[in-house]
Amino acid sequence: MSRALEILEHVFGYTAFRGEQAAIVDQVANGGDALVLMPTGGGKSLCFQIPALMRPGTAIVVSPLIALMRDQVAALQEAGVAAECLNSSLTQDEAASVEQRWMRGELDLLYIAPERLLNPRTLAQLEHTHEQHGIALFAIDEAHCVSQWGHDFRPEYLQLSVLSERFPGVPRIALTATADAQTREEIAQRLNLTEARRFISSFDRPNIRYRMVEKNGPRQQLLDFIHEHPGEAGIVYCLSRRKVEETAAALCEAGLTALPYHAGLPQEVRSENQLRFLREDGIVMVATIAFGMGIDKPDVRFVAHLDLPRSIEGYYQETGRAGRDGLPAEAWMAWGAQDVVQQRRMLDESEGSAEFKRLANSRLDALVGLVEATDCRRIHLLRYFGEAIEACGNCDNCIDPPQTWDALEPARKALSCVYRTGQRYGAGHLIDVLRGERTEKVVERGHDTVTTFGIGADLDDKTWRSVFRQLAARSFLAVDHDRFGALTLTESARLLLRGEAGFEIRVPTKKKRLKAGRGG
Ligand code: ADP
Ligand code: ZN
Repeated sequence: MSRALEILEHVFGYTAFRGEQAAIVDQVANGGDALVLMPTGGGKSLCFQIPALMRPGTAIVVSPLIALMRDQVAALQEAGVAAECLNSSLTQDEAASVEQRWMRGELDLLYIAPERLLNPRTLAQLEHTHEQHGIALFAIDEAHCVSQWGHDFRPEYLQLSVLSERFPGVPRIALTATADAQTREEIAQRLNLTEARRFISSFDRPNIRYRMVEKNGPRQQLLDFIHEHPGEAGIVYCLSRRKVEETAAALCEAGLTALPYHAGLPQEVRSENQLRFLREDGIVMVATIAFGMGIDKPDVRFVAHLDLPRSIEGYYQETGRAGRDGLPAEAWMAWGAQDVVQQRRMLDESEGSAEFKRLANSRLDALVGLVEATDCRRIHLLRYFGEAIEACGNCDNCIDPPQTWDALEPARKALSCVYRTGQRYGAGHLIDVLRGERTEKVVERGHDTVTTFGIGADLDDKTWRSVFRQLAARSFLAVDHDRFGALTLTESARLLLRGEAGFEIRVPTKKKRLKAGRGG
């Protein structure tokens, strides 16, 4: 039996490696560098923990989250491994004792926060132990924190390239579950890992069923969805703290055990709610994205989104918390074209650089492509991570293909009307012109004489609204907020006008009459 397998069995109690684990362990144990992309729950930790035990000296693990470090160190200690951590949660005495053991070469693994590692004193200690006992390896966990465009950006991560400069012979392994091609390159460049061997696991989570519904009384829709999972644990994500509180209260009123979680709650409440979620059965956690990183609860049966996430990575990470035990789980989202328009506006008004906004907008576009898809969701999702698959048979579009209609002609009429009226009006007025309504405003502006007047009388107001919403959501129209929401043509509008892009939209779902309060 190989040494690695022996450690896997005797220390960790598992009988076989999963996926790429064996190859990664082999690479690093033999002194090579590795860049590891593996979905959440894939088993990244063993990829550096086992080589750490195979090589002489202490392995240094850089991790951005104290909670994550604490959990891993506790689990390792329980397995009899000499692991410790150095971070701001230790008292001075505790830290001093960890440092002493480290200097004596007694530790197998040392988890350390990036700012602590980069401190000149720690770097000197590293040099010292390197000479005395050797350094087994450097593991850089959550390596996407190096990406300036991601929401987990940690400036200290940028400086981790010093490790390769000062300790050139020590193998380095960077790990992440966030992995669009761009982030991947950024990690390789900034951490000096362009030569490292890459291990890219499939991001498919076949046991998760994806479902996205158009908002139509979202609170009731959410309740109906949760009722399909009686007694099961789940997470409901909302964008704002206020909506978290309101939704949690509404779910409790409906007889569910729902707890709120967001960064505005006192630390004790957050810890208490998190602990209950982990320990008790059937709790629904209603949370902002502040909740979830480092939560290892295998039997989360559903993740629901009441608001559009900011990007596919975000969506993927959040939904990835469902079904880590491999059993069937659901990812459900309620979305409205209005949400897309709102997120675009928030982006436009945000402070970021032009480059940042462009990137954020293209990430939002990718997400819109996913929610509006009329074919297999998983194909879209995985394509984003560079994987090509067949239709999955386990998403709403595969199971129950949506009805669509070809709205290209109406879309072209709408764009033409925007153009003819000088790109100065919102959807309401444009629809009046298209439908040939002689309202006061239409007559006053002389819009009853433009060529697009009345060319859209065949469609009703509601249908036109959805055409305009989709035109904005798919970036064929932009909303000018400095001019009272005037709609203007974008560069890609030309494609539609020339008939070089298609424009299929979903047949809208019938509005149900709702008895109780409408949420969201
Ligand atoms: P990640 O960091 O990629 O999210 P973890 O390293 O936390 O994943 O592993 C996820 C879960 O899978 C953990 O409970 C871990 O013990 C388990 N696991 C990892 N590798 C194996 C294996 N080879 N066999 C069985 N269970 C494993
Ligand atoms: Zn599918």
